[in-house]
Amino acid sequence: MSWEENIKKVIPYTPGEQPKIENIIKLNTNECPYPPAPEIKEKLEKFSYESLRLYPDPSASVLVNALSSYYNIAPEKIFVGVGSDDVLAMAFLTFFNSNKPILFPDITYSFYDVWAELFKIPYKKVPLNDDFEITIEDYFEENGGVIFPNPNAPTGLFMDLSMVEEIIKKNKDSVVIVDEAYIDFGGISAASLIDKYDNLLVVQTFSKSRAMAGMRIGYAFGSKKLIKYLQDAKFSFNSYTMNRTSLEFGVASLENVVYFQETCGKIISTRERVKKDLKNLGFTFPDSMSNFIFARHPEVPAVELFDALKKQGIFVRYFNAPRIDDYLRITIGTDKQMDIFMDFLKKYLQERL
Ligand code: PMP
Repeated sequence: MSWEENIKKVIPYTPGEQPKIENIIKLNTNECPYPPAPEIKEKLEKFSYESLRLYPDPSASVLVNALSSYYNIAPEKIFVGVGSDDVLAMAFLTFFNSNKPILFPDITYSFYDVWAELFKIPYKKVPLNDDFEITIEDYFEENGGVIFPNPNAPTGLFMDLSMVEEIIKKNKDSVVIVDEAYIDFGGISAASLIDKYDNLLVVQTFSKSRAMAGMRIGYAFGSKKLIKYLQDAKFSFNSYTMNRTSLEFGVASLENVVYFQETCGKIISTRERVKKDLKNLGFTFPDSMSNFIFARHPEVPAVELFDALKKQGIFVRYFNAPRIDDYLRITIGTDKQMDIFMDFLKKYLQERL
């Protein structure tokens, strides 16, 4: 017998590339092209290096309280973690323990099946319709839990809150997780429903709309009961998930509401402009409410465009997976970045077609 027989073998999630080359146009991992709130820079300059000697507050109360004031939700209904990936992984571990399969869309955030495999959770991928929309009735069958992003990724499609509520209503016997990583780009959050449904968990992140992917801050809203279960799992894992810098800079980000709204507004208006430009070049795409567009060209294969763009130092995301291997996921950058991107595409297609 070899020691390798007793090893947990997993196929890990593959994140988008983080190229080590300078001066590229990086539209491949849905980061924000603008800097985080200026208050963070001030805090960074004043940050007590000496404080690193001490463990951080295990309850992360400064950050939880700042989120509580910002969203007007009681601190006992808020959980924080190291990016929403950490929050989601902890939620899978805590809430999905049935023998019945958990349900999620076939085209969605590709970390869900990785966690399900890791924790040995049975799961069923529910096909989106031909327009990449969720058919809510598909989620009315018996299950061990439900999770979907809203807006969905990588399609960018937002599902109306009334439909989200319908799914929650029909699933009183399992936990429903709504992954709202991209909610700040025009969608309406399900956070308003947590008092109505004690089995609802709404997960959000500082990585996209708050331009803090490098800091790793995620959070969730849910009933006191649900959050307590999540805390118990977290404290059985690692007491000090949020480090001192995350706590301090996370709070600073929440202080500047105007900057946050302006940043989201800029991304939304660039997105709408890029939709028109892409349409003019013949691309088709679901009507994104996120900070990316999931587009295909009817004549030119996505992988060809992906490679051509990469050669120009323009990185987008390509998924070699069923139903979506003809699409590119293009993160919305600054107007200038998107101009360079569009100019290249225009020239390339003109020469190619
Ligand atoms: N959910 C979805 C749908 C995402 O696309 C991402 C980004 N990869 C995440 C969660 C995780 O983001 P983070 O861990 O940076 O908060």
